[in-house]
Amino acid sequence: MSDNSNLKMQDNIPALSAAWPECLKLLKAAQKVMITTHVNADGDAIGSQLGLYHLLRQMGKFVTMVNPSPVPPNLLFLNGSEKIESVHEKYSFDDLGLVDTIVVLDVNTPKRLPGLEQFILKSAATKIVIDHHLHPQAFADLYVMNSEACAVGFMLHELVVRAGSSYWNADLAMALYVAIMTDTGNFRFPRTNADVHRAVATLLEAGADPVVAYEQVYNQGSIARLRLLGQALAGIELFHNGQLAVMQITQAMLGHKAPEPGSTEGFVEQLLAIEGVRMGALLIETGQEVKISLRSKGKVPVNMIADQLGGGGHGNAAGARVQDTNSSAVARLIVDKAATCL
Ligand code: 5GP
Ligand code: MN
Repeated sequence: MSDNSNLKMQDNIPALSAAWPECLKLLKAAQKVMITTHVNADGDAIGSQLGLYHLLRQMGKFVTMVNPSPVPPNLLFLNGSEKIESVHEKYSFDDLGLVDTIVVLDVNTPKRLPGLEQFILKSAATKIVIDHHLHPQAFADLYVMNSEACAVGFMLHELVVRAGSSYWNADLAMALYVAIMTDTGNFRFPRTNADVHRAVATLLEAGADPVVAYEQVYNQGSIARLRLLGQALAGIELFHNGQLAVMQITQAMLGHKAPEPGSTEGFVEQLLAIEGVRMGALLIETGQEVKISLRSKGKVPVNMIADQLGGGGHGNAAGARVQDTNSSAVARLIVDKAATCL
């Protein structure tokens, strides 16, 4: 879709004060809801999906959750995660039955819903997008968008507040807590403001357990994961007077297999721990393509680079996938492009 359609899109996005009541109205009228989120779901994606699931179940809705890829193992402790399906070669949308409402979370472009894209675009269901990314694409009936929000989980806290305090329970609170904890980098990224902490206080009062959340999300990794991190750390290279750090994970390091879901989560953040580094790039050879993860500090707009490569994201966290099998070639491309934003 052209930039032009993005521009026109901005006019179709209602203010949040109007979008939330409309969203609640549509959800109350719904009977069968499908909730989905982006490929390679992270903590915000799954936490938000389950948060909305627990809200809608209490409202008496029939809810299905279908994603482009499986739930990462470190999020399977969340109640309800066992009900999340992922599309695979033999997946049949006929089994889904008639869905009257589709809610798309933490993503605003159908391209990041591989395997579900056509089903969603062709469906006659009412489509709602709840997201905090920039540049939404035109495919839904209602957009609840807040690019200032630290996480979609934080946005959904507002939805629950608007729906009514009787809906809070431990499962709902824990799901949204994990969403916010992960997308704020454990409450330290720039959009972690006082409102976020007030929302988190509500979640703790409703039964979210911060000890269990951190323990399950971050402290259950395999020794293989830590060894892979060790190899990747050993190979870090610095460019542009030490302002750019690049980490590569090659097919050889992965034993010539695709990486397990979530197996490299958090790796790219390590790059910003180096003094003087303002931008970090992680390049992963999946075997099919190279997955690029970009992170930065302050005013280094890494989404500019991701956009140029057909991806997207935020100013300080962005990504893309390129049709190349060699991460070194992609690294050189990133080093060149970084010169414009450092
Ligand atoms: P990550 O590096 O954790 O995979 O992604 C960081 C952020 O970049 C995500 O929250 C998402 O906003 C964005 N992102 C990552 N990969 C892609 C991609 O392939 N396409 C788009 N549009 N955005 C991406
Ligand atoms: Mn998010």
